[in-house]
Amino acid sequence: MQAMILVAGSANLDFVVRASHIPQPGETVLGDDLRTYPGGKGANQAVACARAGAADVAMLLALGDDAYAAPLEKSLRDAGVRLHLVRVPAVATGTAFICVSDDAENAITVAPGANAHLLPQHIPDLHGLSHVLLQLEIPLDTVIALAQRARALGVCVVLNAAPARALPAELLALVDILIVNQGELAALVPHGDTIAQRVALLPSERVVVTLGSQGCCARHGDTWHFQPAFAVSAVDSTGAGDTFCGSLVAALAHGQPLAAALRYASAAGALACTQAGAQAAIPAADALRRWLAQAPAASAQSVAALRLACGA
Ligand code: ADP
Repeated sequence: MQAMILVAGSANLDFVVRASHIPQPGETVLGDDLRTYPGGKGANQAVACARAGAADVAMLLALGDDAYAAPLEKSLRDAGVRLHLVRVPAVATGTAFICVSDDAENAITVAPGANAHLLPQHIPDLHGLSHVLLQLEIPLDTVIALAQRARALGVCVVLNAAPARALPAELLALVDILIVNQGELAALVPHGDTIAQRVALLPSERVVVTLGSQGCCARHGDTWHFQPAFAVSAVDSTGAGDTFCGSLVAALAHGQPLAAALRYASAAGALACTQAGAQAAIPAADALRRWLAQAPAASAQSVAALRLACGA
């Protein structure tokens, strides 16, 4: 039977301008032409899950009743995501204003709009799901209610704790798989000199920490895994983390062990950096598998360097 994944979270229309560098406070930078792309952490992760092809993927999302909603809906449906769509009247669809620099860094301002109106009362029936995948661009009460209901049904709760913020212990205790980057980890666990020390203070059985172009590490119980990043020429890292999260959950839902799922998700994250846009850059499963088949295995030195960087 196919695994069933529900992604619950944000959908934003991304307004992207490329510039030589990201402006400092008070600075004005002349950039290239404006481009718009479907984005939002929740929608990006749902598309990444669906493109991985291994599971039935649905998304719970809220959109406004405006022109920005249609491209978001279309991108999700085209990827094969089933929608639990809450239409919020008289509120704008979520938007994000993104500056991408020539060295592929980005700075993002989000106007949540309809995403802020996704409430516990909108949560659909969770029976039959294998995984729920959550982020923090919708109200925290909704995230907690989803985690509680999923946990009660034995559904695996995956939280990408992004954007960075402190979280109540009540929510962290409900999470089976936590995915964070270094900044998000520091916001959750302010104490600790190393990644390993901070991860040790988290209650989830599986914790994955992404480290951008360095790669990622994961602790499963007492076992650590290290996956160095694949070398690519990055042009836009927007959505790399979301692609990683969605691909990881899809691979796990397909029955892959954590180490293999980390490798698959890392390859997806790396390829997502090679094209502009968030959802537009998410690779399809076939292309990804072909690319992975010819990608070199990580060297012992790169794994050792990553272990050292994590302090594990
Ligand atoms: P976030 O965008 O949430 O901060 P990261 O930047 O850590 O997430 O990226 C998530 C994953 O995507 C990384 O762990 C890595 O596997 C891959 N990735 C990100 N940036 C690059 C890059 N420049 N080159 C290769 N892989 C990358």
